[in-house]
Amino acid sequence: MAECIFCKIIKGDIPSAKVYEDDLVYAFLDISPINHGHALVIPKEHHESSATVPEETAGRMFRVASRVGVALKRKYDWDAFNLHLADGTAAGQVVNHVHLHVVPRGVEDGFRWNWRQLKYEDGQMAEIAGELAARVNADLAGK
Ligand code: 5GP
Ligand code: ZN
Repeated sequence: MAECIFCKIIKGDIPSAKVYEDDLVYAFLDISPINHGHALVIPKEHHESSATVPEETAGRMFRVASRVGVALKRKYDWDAFNLHLADGTAAGQVVNHVHLHVVPRGVEDGFRWNWRQLKYEDGQMAEIAGELAARVNADLAGK
């Protein structure tokens, strides 16, 4: 896509700190990191949503992101890493070329996800799971 900044990064029209590249994916450092080494793994093909990324590419994104996370731990002594993907504006997606964040984490890095814990009413959990299961199974069966 001509005006997409991540497509421009892949083409080399915008400079980036490249970490990895192969036939399907490109990985580079996020310009505004949560912690130093915070990387982004993107498909070379432009997709806005994770839902349209072909299975092989999606698998490669996950594999590369995990290996980048392991490299961050081994090289810089981070304790752990988060993989994060914002799919859609309401989820926090700002750049409309799907990207998997690899965020190196330390026990005392001072960063916290603002993660709340709601409760379900009686029966609500089973109802939602059942409705979702029907849609997901039909979707993945190609109906
Ligand atoms: P999102 O909020 O869409 O999940 O994440 C987009 C990420 O892309 C942000 O963390 C932001 O810092 C990063 N980003 C945006 N523009 C550029 C850029 O031109 N170069 C690099 N390296 N990262 C960028
Ligand atoms: Zn793009």
